[in-house]
Amino acid sequence: MDGGLRPMDADQLREHAHKMVDFIADYYKSIENFPVLSQVEPGYLSRMLPDSAPNHPESLEDIFNDISAKILPGVTHWQSPNYFAYFPSNSSIAGFLGEMLSAGLNIVGFSWITSPAATELEMIVLDWLAKLLKLPDDFLSGGKGGGVIQGTASEAVLVVLLAARDKMLRTVGKNALEKLVVYASNQTHSALQKACQIGGIQPENCRLLETDSTSNYALSPDVLCEAIAHDIAIGLIPFFLCATVGTTSSTAVDPLLPLGKIAKSKGMWFHVDAAYAGSACICPEYRHYIDGVEEADSFNMNAHKWFLTNFDCSALWIKDRNALAQSLSTNPEFLKNKASQANMVVDYKDWQIPLGRRFRSLKLWMVLRLYGIENLQCYIRNHIKLAQQFEVLVAQDPRFEVVNPRIFSLVCFRLLPSQNSKDHGNELNHHLLDTVNSTGKVFLSHTVLSGKYILRFAVGAPLTEERHVTAAWKVLQDEASALLRSFLQLTGLQLEGNGG
Ligand SMILES: *Cc1c(COP(=O)(O)O)cnc(C)c1O
Repeated sequence: MDGGLRPMDADQLREHAHKMVDFIADYYKSIENFPVLSQVEPGYLSRMLPDSAPNHPESLEDIFNDISAKILPGVTHWQSPNYFAYFPSNSSIAGFLGEMLSAGLNIVGFSWITSPAATELEMIVLDWLAKLLKLPDDFLSGGKGGGVIQGTASEAVLVVLLAARDKMLRTVGKNALEKLVVYASNQTHSALQKACQIGGIQPENCRLLETDSTSNYALSPDVLCEAIAHDIAIGLIPFFLCATVGTTSSTAVDPLLPLGKIAKSKGMWFHVDAAYAGSACICPEYRHYIDGVEEADSFNMNAHKWFLTNFDCSALWIKDRNALAQSLSTNPEFLKNKASQANMVVDYKDWQIPLGRRFRSLKLWMVLRLYGIENLQCYIRNHIKLAQQFEVLVAQDPRFEVVNPRIFSLVCFRLLPSQNSKDHGNELNHHLLDTVNSTGKVFLSHTVLSGKYILRFAVGAPLTEERHVTAAWKVLQDEASALLRSFLQLTGLQLEGNGG
């Protein structure tokens, strides 16, 4: 009925977008006033919003009011300086502007012809980042390899697993799918398991090898060798090894060089997941953690975690881009074009699962240009320094222990159970995490290592300063004191009860 809708009218865009930018800037100004972890109950929103869409347009003002009153209470503030949970997911002005431009142009860059700049900028920016990480030249776009932006590390490991699977099946025959075996440590992100499920790998052929505290939860080359030898002896076919630099639980670092050599000697694909810690490797003093990456067939780091590039932007490099294309390319008539047919260009649709793709290289390009390498290195170093300071605070309090030696910007620690209640350690720390997070003042997450419930303090939000780290420690200490008092009373009562 209404032909008057002008959804991209330039004047209205300017007016509304300015208001939105003001709203977001105000949000950042007041971000510390919100509880970091959203305190709403499940289903809260359906009680606040109508159950069908409006027939007639509503005003931007009304919508802003609803955002403040109804949406923000249900937001967990990942950009808060008091956010220390999981791993960081950095926002930055550069990343935000790149995202804004990408939304503004709104191209769909599946093949070169659909926006040559999108493909070419992605190749150039990933070459820049590869050089910054001192990745081997085989990962650069000039040769047989190259980089591609995936949405997430999960997609990255899936596409390389599919490429590796098909490459092996071309050698050993299609019927061998059931014999293919994947190796990784038991600290590897669950994304690998999901990739195996999607890729048709038998669940019982996914070897998540034991690790322990003696090696700081890194995968042992000896354990890997043993597992491979055993599998070969019973007629199975090892084809994929995933190593991690900076595991999600505790930032364990698998030794890439010996692991890679084993993989190579068995003709296996070697993938390195450095989703979080890859960012630190732009600093010369941390680069050694990816020594051995020369042996890898693929390498992944999430620029959207700790590299100031707004979600999503996961950088994946491979040495043999043909292997990816052999698994993922299709060539329907409706997409045929001269440049693609002549093999003169990269068509990124053949490097990923979906067809459509966003112009994500813009934000990474803007981050690298607006900040520059030196500032990015300082940014990483500052977070690691803050984590070191937190580690010292924990170590100075005899009621707590640092669980693993800290490597990057994650501190794993726990409250020690009192002598006469050893078994309560996990319960105690679980309680501590709950009470600390429900204050709304900070947000931490947890993991379990060797059966112990452990708190994770991950520094890395763009606004975090020393004062936030010391304030967070104060919250932890205060809540721990209160908890220890009530636990003492509880055990005291139990003892009395038992004694009577
Ligand atoms: C965060 C993380 C992942 C998963 O990241 P997504 O991009 O959300 O898929 C995988 N591996 C490691 C080591 C991670 O830290």
